[in-house]
Amino acid sequence: MDGPSGSGKSSASRGVARALGLRYLDTGAMYRAITWWMLQQGVDLSDQEAIAARALGPVLTLGTDPDAPSVAVDGADVAAPIRTAEVTAAVSAVSAVPEVRRRLVAEQREIIGEGGIVVEGRDIGTVVVPDAPVKIYLTASADARALRRTAELAGTTVQAQKAAMARRDTLDSTRKADPLAMAADAVELDTTALNLDEVVAEILRLIKE
Ligand code: C5P
Repeated sequence: MDGPSGSGKSSASRGVARALGLRYLDTGAMYRAITWWMLQQGVDLSDQEAIAARALGPVLTLGTDPDAPSVAVDGADVAAPIRTAEVTAAVSAVSAVPEVRRRLVAEQREIIGEGGIVVEGRDIGTVVVPDAPVKIYLTASADARALRRTAELAGTTVQAQKAAMARRDTLDSTRKADPLAMAADAVELDTTALNLDEVVAEILRLIKE
C-alpha cells in the first residue's frame, strides 16, 4: 500500500491487516526512527555523506501486530518521538540517502519474509516487493490530506499542514528514484470522499477479485 502522507495509508493498512488476520508493517516508521536517532546523535542532516556514514548505526525493531504496532531504536520504544514535527520535517533528507534506503529495504524484505502481511510506504510496490500479489496506491486531494493530518495533530492549522505536506511530497519525489511513483500494476484508490470503513471495504473487495 503506497501513497503520499495523509492519503489514509496507515489506518487503511491496519484495518485491512486486522480484517484478514495478517501482519502489518509501517515502513515510514523505520525512516522516521533512523531520522530520530540521527537527530539525537547530532548528525548534520544537510550532509549526505554524514548520513550515509551512520546509516547502519542504530538497531531497529519493528512489531507487526496491526492492533499494537511498535518501533524501537536500540531497544527503546520511540513510537511517540518519531511523530514529532521535528522528525517529520527532517525525514525526507534522511530517506533520500541511498545507503539508508538500501539498509531499510533489505530489513523490510526480511520482515516481509514469506508474505501474509500488509506493508505501507512509498516504494513498496515499485522497489521493496515488486511481485506483491495486490498493490494499492492511495491518493486524496491536497485539502482532504491536510484536513486529516490537522485532526491528528495538536496546535496546527489546515493551511500550515497543506504547506508542510506539499514540501515533503516535493522532497520525497524529486530524488533520482522517485519513491512516490505508482507501480504500473497498482490499483489507484482516491480516498477523498470515502471514510475509513469504505476504504477498507473497497480494498478487501479488490483483494478478493
Ligand atoms: O509514511 P510516513 O509519512 O510516516 O513516512 C515518513 C517519510 O519516510 C516520508 O516522507 C518519506 O520521506 C519516507 N519514506 C520513504 N519510503 C517509504 C516510507 C517512508 O522514503 N517506503
